[in-house]
Amino acid sequence: MARIDLNFEAYKHNLNYLVNLAGNIEKLMVVFKDNAYGHGLLQMAPLAAAVGVKSVVVRNNSEASLLDGLFENILILADYPNSISSNSYAANSLEALQFFPKSTKIHLKLDTGMNRNGIKEDELKKALICIQKNGLKLEACFSHFYSADELSADFYVQKERYKNFKELVKQELKKLNLPTPYFHSCNSSALLRQNENMFDDDFARVGVATYGYCDGFIKHELKPVLSLWANKISSREIEQGEKVGYGGVFESEKRLKISTYDLGYADGLFRSDGKKELYLKDGKPFLGKTSMDSFMTIGDDEEVCLLEDAMPLAKHINTIVYEILVKLSPSIPRRVI
Ligand SMILES: *Cc1c(COP(=O)(O)O)cnc(C)c1O
Repeated sequence: MARIDLNFEAYKHNLNYLVNLAGNIEKLMVVFKDNAYGHGLLQMAPLAAAVGVKSVVVRNNSEASLLDGLFENILILADYPNSISSNSYAANSLEALQFFPKSTKIHLKLDTGMNRNGIKEDELKKALICIQKNGLKLEACFSHFYSADELSADFYVQKERYKNFKELVKQELKKLNLPTPYFHSCNSSALLRQNENMFDDDFARVGVATYGYCDGFIKHELKPVLSLWANKISSREIEQGEKVGYGGVFESEKRLKISTYDLGYADGLFRSDGKKELYLKDGKPFLGKTSMDSFMTIGDDEEVCLLEDAMPLAKHINTIVYEILVKLSPSIPRRVI
């Protein structure tokens, strides 16, 4: 059966690498949203806990409910508590503050230029009054960089804006006699771009780097955690001129031994249309169009590795590793090695 292998050594290596940049493991908020970027939340969470991770980030209540007891802090990015919850919730707008029950721990999102979520500077006073009035606990304020993985001035401009917003929050809270909350802003690439000992936030929210990747120009020594494998369903010999798969897109120029393997686009595998060359890890080509539950390649190995590093495939099809990983079906069996 097709499977995903998760390399615990690589994962530990990546977490340690990031701990070195952030200062200590308490400062890492490990992002587990969307089934741990397709790796498998249930498999990855105990590994993170074993390494000593205390704080994690998920997308919604249902993901948080799978983590019971493993971590001290869970930040939920886009949901509301069903009842009194010990988890923390991102408040993504001024209006959103109305919908949290009393005593909910809030991470207030500050929009510093991405224009995706968060309040603007001129909404801060209203937000703080609302938090006080509704009895919410302002645990942290946070922001998100929109171009930390691009080589441009935008990142520095946004960093400056975040720094100023942070000061503004501190001032306003002082006026209201309220304690200073935590602050966090860095995603993986922003943390990887920090010069040594320059990290001055309370947390960094690291996703893709923990899985071994960083898109863009940033140099790093991260190791991919996931590898994807498929098993042989059947083999056959084809003659010169025979076609393979739907539409007969691949036509053999010689006598060939070919085999069919048990992964297809229903498993979240990128669907090749057979026109652009696409290769397995060992360089063997996909033959023709990918089927729903299978694909064909040359040879008759019992199992083949589709990828050990998602970056070449992402580049080849002009997308980002996030998309390749996150689409891998939760129903593919995962195995920690
Ligand atoms: C997904 C996400 C992250 C993690 O980003 P990476 O680039 O994977 O490190 C951090 N913060 C927020 C708000 C996110 O949605």
